[in-house]
Amino acid sequence: MSHAKTDGSDGTHPSDPTRHEAPGDDVFVDTQQVIAHAIPSNVNRRIFLMRTAVGGAAAVMTGCSPSPEDRTAKAVATSAPAQAPAAAPSAPPLAADLNVVQKEKGPVMTTVDEFYKVGPGPSSSHTIGPMRITYDFYQRAIKLPADQLATATKLQVNLFGSLSATGKGHGTERASLAGLIGNEPATVDPKFLDGLRDKPDQVFPVKLGSKTIDVSLKDVIYDATKGDFKHPNTMTVKLLAGDKVLLEQEYYSVGGGFIEWKGYTPPKKNQPKYPFATMKELRGHAEANKTTIAKIILANEMSITGKSEADVYAWVDKVINAMVATVKSGLAMPEDDVLPGPIKLHSKAATVYKRAMDDKYQADRGIGVLSAYALAASEENGRGHLVITAPTGGSAGVMPALVYGLVEVRKVPHQKIREGMLAAAAIGYLCKHHATLSAAEGGCQAEIGVASSMAAALTATAFDAESHVVENAAESALEHHLGMTCDPVAGYVQVPCIERCAFGAVKAWTAYAIASNEIASRHRVDFDATVMALAQTAKDMNSKYKETSEAGLAQSVVLC
Ligand code: SF4
Repeated sequence: MSHAKTDGSDGTHPSDPTRHEAPGDDVFVDTQQVIAHAIPSNVNRRIFLMRTAVGGAAAVMTGCSPSPEDRTAKAVATSAPAQAPAAAPSAPPLAADLNVVQKEKGPVMTTVDEFYKVGPGPSSSHTIGPMRITYDFYQRAIKLPADQLATATKLQVNLFGSLSATGKGHGTERASLAGLIGNEPATVDPKFLDGLRDKPDQVFPVKLGSKTIDVSLKDVIYDATKGDFKHPNTMTVKLLAGDKVLLEQEYYSVGGGFIEWKGYTPPKKNQPKYPFATMKELRGHAEANKTTIAKIILANEMSITGKSEADVYAWVDKVINAMVATVKSGLAMPEDDVLPGPIKLHSKAATVYKRAMDDKYQADRGIGVLSAYALAASEENGRGHLVITAPTGGSAGVMPALVYGLVEVRKVPHQKIREGMLAAAAIGYLCKHHATLSAAEGGCQAEIGVASSMAAALTATAFDAESHVVENAAESALEHHLGMTCDPVAGYVQVPCIERCAFGAVKAWTAYAIASNEIASRHRVDFDATVMALAQTAKDMNSKYKETSEAGLAQSVVLC
């Protein structure tokens, strides 16, 4: 059965289906007819359309009904001249006082074994970095002349800035002590750190030459939180003989587990085969050589480090395996597990996974399992267990979620996962090169934002997307984290961090889905511009939102 249309959609007047007025009589005339013929070439189309519409509306209100020609003439008279399409805005200048920005010059020289690090959570800058620092100091101390070591009486660590402000929540003192007594982050038994938490009074003998010194958590001092520090994550380590300083070093945990020290100069490396400092240059190499971003990164890794392809992939495989393992161990934890710390946060990974696998909720399964994988790895981080910096500990749920899903569910060939890991690393390198990976410098956009961007590049590469799609996916994921602040409740990397990893993983997938369904050249924001925005936003962000727990959720959430 059909009904005659009376709403005007068939071209007749709504109040009288039989009436067909001449355009000049009708203030509701189809403007497309007028516009198609009447937009002069020398006026701004948008302003012209607005003026025409305003003229029509005024006619309705006043009862005055000028002809379309009159309305067109009036709109032309009041419209701005047409202009050439606006050029894309140039990227804002780099923030001159952004710590990392100042130091990174020339081509990207970061390598995968520096970038992906395995160590104890929950924060690469507050646990892995400090542990690497005290381990580094321990290695320096044992090289002192024997007669000096024979006089040593004390080892002392002082934590400053953000390390002091939120270090207690991260277990920075335990990580620092573990390194000081000779433990390496990648191989430390998480149970050792759990033991330090449960029995904080333990004393450990440290052998320095012929001398043995007892150290305990009391030797790690939470010092000034505010001051004129070279980096927000500053710490000093000293070896003392009574009041006399035998050795002292000021260190900086600069994010992602990277460490530097006063007078630091980057290690000497070979030149990359394909030098690049921007995504434009990196993609240019890939396109000029008819290859992929991942293959360019592999060639650079080999030329910078002198390693073979097999050696590069051996490290990448370790990281992939560690990511899969962290998701597995997180999913295996009981549903009602309570994470360490004052929040008494119950783990959610196992529950979210169980529901996602319930056939009643099959339509939600994709997002459900991806979220569960991210929660699982992130909760492991919250427990202080081993995590992988990708790029940091706080964001340690994002990349593993995508890796686990691609490996275990999508059964993507292993070689594609390896290549995805290299493309993801390139994203992290560029963010580190021009902006920061440290929440103390850039807030959470530098952690979860970069992780999500990396995961989007991983996914696109694993599914054989062309370089431009890889770039667009990474750009999109980063873009939609810009401005995200870091405000961990009670200084613990749990709220908002754990759920934020799940959102970062889902956004990575969304970014890939969008990028792989658009014409790549039509994507209007390039990755380099978004990295510049990340740097600028990091510079402008109030320090209260940079891992200090002085604002945001850290202040508005009241723990009972
Ligand atoms: S809020 Fe984000 S940046 Fe801050 S600790 Fe948590 S995960 Fe890291």
